[in-house]
Amino acid sequence: MHAALIAAGLYSLAVGPVNTFFLDSSDGCVLIDAGFPSSAEKILQAIQELGKQPKDVRHIILTHAHPDHIGSFAALKKATGADAYMHPLDAPIAIAGTGFRRLYPAPGLFSHIAIRALALAAQSVEPASIEHEVRDGDVLPIAGGLTAIHVPGHCAGQIALLWPQHGGVLFAVDTCANMMGLGLSIGYEDLEEGKRSLKKLAQLDFQIACFGHGKPIMRNASSQFRAKWG
Ligand SMILES: [Zn+2]
Ligand SMILES: [Zn+2]
Repeated sequence: MHAALIAAGLYSLAVGPVNTFFLDSSDGCVLIDAGFPSSAEKILQAIQELGKQPKDVRHIILTHAHPDHIGSFAALKKATGADAYMHPLDAPIAIAGTGFRRLYPAPGLFSHIAIRALALAAQSVEPASIEHEVRDGDVLPIAGGLTAIHVPGHCAGQIALLWPQHGGVLFAVDTCANMMGLGLSIGYEDLEEGKRSLKKLAQLDFQIACFGHGKPIMRNASSQFRAKWG
């Protein structure tokens, strides 16, 4: 697995069907999400190929407590010694390593199949501690400032992140996906709430959008969000 450059200082590290992201910052590198269980070696190898050491990763931001996003969190935390950040509604799940929220498939056959595969992937993950609770509107003083946006619906404690570089980079994570074009995520705890969160994101301005699943949108991403969910 190799790191893929999205924009200067921003890489996606895909581990199977899920993306994690790496921000190369002089005040300490940032990892956004931690992939499925048993992904730590691949993620660390990709980081090393970028000329960084595990200890250069000072911050791990977990966007929500699904096993494909926190699966290798404990192993990555051990290897890096990084501080962890998460919304208080989802932090207890990462700290316990179990108790994942129920996910209901979005409309469509693919969603039904994918949800089943995700449910079988892991019932529990290795637990680890969270140092910082992140709430809606918090500006994390890392990588030049990352604004957290609480976006429940897919998962009650999910946060998106807005990075004011390159004309705005939105980490939309699993609020939606860009698998077969921009569309809904495979599942939601509460679809109507998920749509309200997408409307909230559609009011922001950003050039680039990054997703937990699928390729990034590299230009005029917020106008695509507005066209769909504004
Ligand atoms: Zn998810
Ligand atoms: Zn996911």
